[in-house]
Amino acid sequence: MHECPVCEAEVPISEDPVEGELLECEECGTELEILALGPITLGEAPDAEEDWGE
Ligand SMILES: [Zn+2]
Repeated sequence: MHECPVCEAEVPISEDPVEGELLECEECGTELEILALGPITLGEAPDAEEDWGE
């Protein structure tokens, strides 16, 4: 579990996280993106577009 950068709720992360993976915080509904893996860093995903694989 990691902390939502917006509301500080705990956000479940998959067992095999991928950089750029998108998640949604169940508490505040914000779309989050895994920005880095070591250590795992979460940030708000850009809400305009979902650029999977660039
Ligand atoms: Zn949140």
